This record gives sequence, C-alpha cells and structure tokens, in this order.
Amino acid sequence: MAKQEDKFKKVLSHAKEYGFVFQSSEIYDGLSAVYDYAQNGAALKNNIRTYWWQAMVQLNDNIVGIDSAIFMHPTTWKASGHIDAFNDPLIDNKDSKKRYRADVLIEDYCAKIEGKIEKEVKKAAKRFGDAFNKDEFLSTNNRVLGYQEKIDTILSRMGKYLENEDLVAVKALIEELEIACPVSGSRNWTDVKQFNLMFGTKLGADASSAMDLYLRPETAQGIFVNFANVQKTGRMKIPFGIAQTGKAFRNEIVARQFIFRMREFEQMEMQFFVRPNTQSEWYEKWKENRLKWHLSLGLGEENYRFHDHDKLAHYADAAADIEFKFPFGFKELEGIHSRTDFDLKAHEKHSGKKLQYFDHEINVSYVPYVVETSVGLDRMFLAVFSTALQDETLADGSVRTVMKLPSVLAPYKAAILPLVKKDGLPEIAKTIINDLKFDFQMTYDEKDAVGRRYRRQDAIGTPFCITVDHQTKEDNTVTIRHRDTMQQERVAISTLKNMIADEVSMSTWLKKLD
Ligand code: ATP
Repeated sequence: MAKQEDKFKKVLSHAKEYGFVFQSSEIYDGLSAVYDYAQNGAALKNNIRTYWWQAMVQLNDNIVGIDSAIFMHPTTWKASGHIDAFNDPLIDNKDSKKRYRADVLIEDYCAKIEGKIEKEVKKAAKRFGDAFNKDEFLSTNNRVLGYQEKIDTILSRMGKYLENEDLVAVKALIEELEIACPVSGSRNWTDVKQFNLMFGTKLGADASSAMDLYLRPETAQGIFVNFANVQKTGRMKIPFGIAQTGKAFRNEIVARQFIFRMREFEQMEMQFFVRPNTQSEWYEKWKENRLKWHLSLGLGEENYRFHDHDKLAHYADAAADIEFKFPFGFKELEGIHSRTDFDLKAHEKHSGKKLQYFDHEINVSYVPYVVETSVGLDRMFLAVFSTALQDETLADGSVRTVMKLPSVLAPYKAAILPLVKKDGLPEIAKTIINDLKFDFQMTYDEKDAVGRRYRRQDAIGTPFCITVDHQTKEDNTVTIRHRDTMQQERVAISTLKNMIADEVSMSTWLKKLD
C-alpha cells in the first residue's frame, strides 16, 4: 500500500513539475477537484482524444461524429431521468465531519479483501515458481474462494439495496461490515441520503424570467436529441453510431483522486443504434472492440479487467466497466452500456417528436436500441500517464525517470539538440525542425550538456532525440536516440522523416486496430 501511495505521489508531483496538470486557479489556492491541463498535458490529452476519434469515426464507415452544446433544453434532463435519478448515496461521519459516497465506502472495503487475494497469489507464485498456474489457483484455493465469495455477496447485496433505493439497508450494511471513517477511525455515521449531482445555472438576464438550466452531466443526451437529424442528413442505415467528445459536469460528493474524479471533466462517448433484440450481440462486440482499443496502446494486458454491473441503471439491460489498475487499484475507466430504447422513447414522449427509424430491410418502423461506449478522457490520461511514468535503474546504478508513453500520444515526437551552441550547429538543427514540423510536433533544446537534455526529454516522454554534431556538417548525418532503449544510431538526415513516422504516426497505430 505504501508503495502505491508513493507511486501516486510521484504521479502528482511529476504532472505538475513537468507541465502536464496544474490545480485550477492555483494562485487563489485552487478549486477542489478542478484541474487545468498545461502545455505538455494539453498535447497528451489532444493526442488521446484524436486516437479515440479516429479509431471511432475514421475507421468505421458507419460512425459519424458530432459536437453538441453543453447547454441543453431543461426537459432533456427530465426525459433522461437525471432530474429524478442522477443521485449518489452520501453518508457523513459525525466525528470527522467528512462526507463519503456510501457505495464507494463499501467498494473500498471489498478492494481490501481483493488485496488479500493478491497477496495469496503472490505467495503461491513464489512457492510454486514456474509451475504456478494463476487461473487454476484462483479457482481452487479455498481461502481465495472464500474471499471472492465474500466480495460477491457484499457487492450483490449493495447492488440490490441501491436498486430498491433502500438507503436504510445500505447504512445497515456499512455498520454490519464495521466500516470505519478513514479519517476519524470512528463508526459514528449519519443516515444515508441521496444527493443530485447536476450543477444548475440560469439562462437569461432577468432573474424573474430566467430559465433554469443544467450543465450537462454526460455528453450522451446531446447525441440522443440529434438522433433523427443525423440519421436523415447523414442518410445513416442501422446499425450506425454517433460519436462525440466534450465536457461534462458533476457535483461529485467526494473528489479526491486527482483527475480520476473531477467536477468538470471530458467524456468520449459513442452511441450505437441497432435493431431491437440485436442489442446483446452488439454489446458483446463493443466490449471486445473497446478492450482491443485500450490494449493497442501497450500499457499491459494485466492492467485491464471487465467488471459486470450488479446494479443496473434505470435505462440499461446490461452494463460492464473496463477497469484499469490505477496507482490506487482497479477502478472504472470506461463504461459499456446496453441502454435499450429508453432514451429515445423518453425523448419521444417528452418532445412529442418521432424518433424512429424505418428499416427498409424488414419494412418496419421502430425506436432503435442503443449500445453505448463511454470513456473518460481525463481517466484515460491518468491511466496512460501513471503507467508510463517509470523510474529505471541503469547499468551504472543511476536512476532515470522516463515516461514510456505510447509514442503516438507523446506531446513531442522528437527533440532536436545541437551538440554545442556554436559552429553553425543550431542553424542546421533549425533547418531540420523546419522540414519535420509539418509532420510532427517537434521541440528544440540547446541548453546544458546533452545528457541532461536527454533526461529532460525522457521525463516528458519524447520518443526520439536527434543530435546534430560536427560530423553532421561533413556528411549530413545525425545521431538518433531511442527513448526506451537509449540506443543511438547514426542516420542520414534524409531518412529521419520515415523513421519517425514508422513509429509515431497515427496511421501506424490505427492499423493495429484493423
Ligand atoms: P463512477 O462510478 O466512477 O462515478 P460512473 O459510472 O458514474 O463513474 P459514467 O456515468 O458511466 O461513470 O461515465 C462514463 C465515464 O466517464 C466513466 O467511465 C469515467 O471514465 C468518466 N467519468 C465519470 N465521472 C467522472 C468524473 N467525475 N471525473 C472524471 N471522469 C469521470
């Protein structure tokens, strides 16, 4: 645990020190759970967004992208169920006065039991050596099976209570498990209450006639209300998808895991419209497809797992999360939901407008069913950033901090470094930049010894460092250093463009998905 906490601290300090993420309004002591992306962070975030967008919209000829407004007609949120049901169960500890999400307290309790399972696995792996079979161990070891059964029972009970809105039972479960406040250590809890997460605002200058609005808590509704417009103007045939990325706002009860849980965040969502009764097949396909997208980034298969929901939202007939192993444990990164025809039907009812599709293949008109994929851009950022950030001990015993970012996502693709600040080397370096800048985000650094400059680029994840030296003047070659292996090779300037593109270009990475 201490190791995990250290890792998380390192992530926070590195994000700030190297210009990735700053606390919002920091000069005024910040705003809780609101963050700004700095120069390197904005570049990394843009690259993640583009990788998602191109994988969705460019690689699928039946998916189009839109960009709907953050403000929406307030009836949208009545229809979607957010006004009545977008609540989290909150509970306060009377001694520390700290507020918690009741479901998260219970989930954290289960995560601790899971930690015990992991310990058993580690112990057994050590004991059995090469002969160790993890899957077999997990399915046969009595102690592990006992732990797992306990987790399953607790989560399924919690799911049932929340589904039935039985908040008294949720509190009773917290008491039965003897969950204590992590701050005060006491079990002196208030009752569990529901808390609506939407931020309200007003449209119009005159207070008496101003319209009450909400900042959207998800981007999905902007897609549903545009379903008919996009389907007609894009002449889309079912099955088809509409994708969008954009800000969403939630007044989170507890927001203390850096950019994991923010009050203003960004989502990347895709709603896939399908014929009724085909939704489970599409749900499985999108689960597989989305996991493949994540795995393509090479952050390690062992860092992902599916978690099927016990408690289904009011609109869903199936739902699963793709969980990622963040520095504080496995947590939701992406949700995949089979939303039935709930949303379109609700908007039909509240707007009085038809949101149907005439299926020429079967000559039937129907309200389509929807399978949605919804991933948080900020959580993706944290997943990529925290996994890529590594301290590596080198052969000489020194330690280098390196961000082994998937190169397609790196803020800068290559740094150009003149060995010295004279003899015409900076001029040659600038000519190289001027040639490559049309294809890649480049950076230039001439300060300090070249070794230190390498380390600076390692720390922000630049895949290549290109050094211009005196030999360059004679034969038009440079040394190119690879971030991960630190190998250097001498190559002709004329080969740089293809070399870099082969490794970092979007098309190279997108091809892995096809
Ligand atoms: P959680 O259970 O963690 O609160 P959720 O199930 O409410 O998340 P969804 O409504 O399914 O989340 O939203 C889809 C995705 O949006 C999530 O998988 C997550 O990546 C992202 N997301 C949701 N809430 C936040 C937040 N407060 N900060 C950052 N990202 C978020």
